[in-house]
Amino acid sequence: MENVLIIGSGPAALTAALYTARANLEPLVIEGIDAGGQLMTTTEVENYPGFHDGVMGPDLIENMRKQAEKFGARFVSGNVSKVQFKELPLTAHTDDNAYTAKTVIISTGARPKKLDIESEKRLWGYGISSCATCDGAFFRGKEVCVIGGGDSALEEALFLTRFASKVTIIHRRDELRASKIMQDRAFANKKIAFLWDSLVDEYLASDKNLLRGVNVRNVKTNVITEYPCDGVFLGIGHIPNTDIFKGQIDLDENGYIITREPRTHTNIEGVFAAGDAVDHIYRQAITAAAMGCKSAIDAERYLGEMNL
Ligand code: NAP
Repeated sequence: MENVLIIGSGPAALTAALYTARANLEPLVIEGIDAGGQLMTTTEVENYPGFHDGVMGPDLIENMRKQAEKFGARFVSGNVSKVQFKELPLTAHTDDNAYTAKTVIISTGARPKKLDIESEKRLWGYGISSCATCDGAFFRGKEVCVIGGGDSALEEALFLTRFASKVTIIHRRDELRASKIMQDRAFANKKIAFLWDSLVDEYLASDKNLLRGVNVRNVKTNVITEYPCDGVFLGIGHIPNTDIFKGQIDLDENGYIITREPRTHTNIEGVFAAGDAVDHIYRQAITAAAMGCKSAIDAERYLGEMNL
């Protein structure tokens, strides 16, 4: 039986692994198939303290992982499909294995939101993406759109200007939600245009089933206009990866894990949670890492108090 089982592999999970490893608890981390979390699809991270020249998201994750490994954290790959937290031992099932533990730290993060319309499913990967870092280079010299008005959308749009000839931000309101610095950068970039008060109603396909444009509806006039483009990137927010915990721990109405703030305890003894699966407000690498640290200390103290 594991002392500490960590589910997830982003900054929260890896920081929890580092702290529990340094406490000699030999944590086992179940990484998931797409290990590393959202930083793996981020380019330059400029706001993680300690890197005055910035750091690439995947490099930051790799360094965190190596640091945890150095102190004895162990890693296995697999998607957790089911958990059992109603009685001891706490159990997490992957397709191939069942892992039992005295404590569990959940840090499964969040995933990008989609519009969930039929044409999106059909053209996903054929011109529609939610990861400019992964797919931006396919659109060299082409025209692309980004949906959303928050920091993610603007970050994607700014990154895409490295490749695309034009980037149009389609936003459902007439003002952006993004931080001032990101807005200033986007407004100053000559390759970026804006379609305000607009929603994508439909993605349009070419004869070869490649994206050729979108139908955009003006929400004030309800007029629908065809807008040609070669690619669309979604930047409309996130959904917590907590489906497997439904019925096992308390979640809020949006699926985020409820913890005993400012601690990281869930409603189940021995189960702790950290990172974007809990936090729908800050959602930063640094805040996720900080919560991971807190969850490790909470788990360590719980093991001590319970003499486990
Ligand atoms: P967000 O702030 O929630 O923004 C989501 C955007 O998508 C909003 O503009 C929203 O419109 C729009 N939207 C949501 N659902 C939509 C739908 N169904 N159709 C069309 N538009 C829709 O999400 P985020 O940009 O992912 O940012 C999340 C957090 O991470 C924020 O705290 C942000 O500051 C942080 N972040 C920071 C950085 C950075 O510092 N470099 C980078 C990325 C993210 P409304 O505005 O009308 O609601």
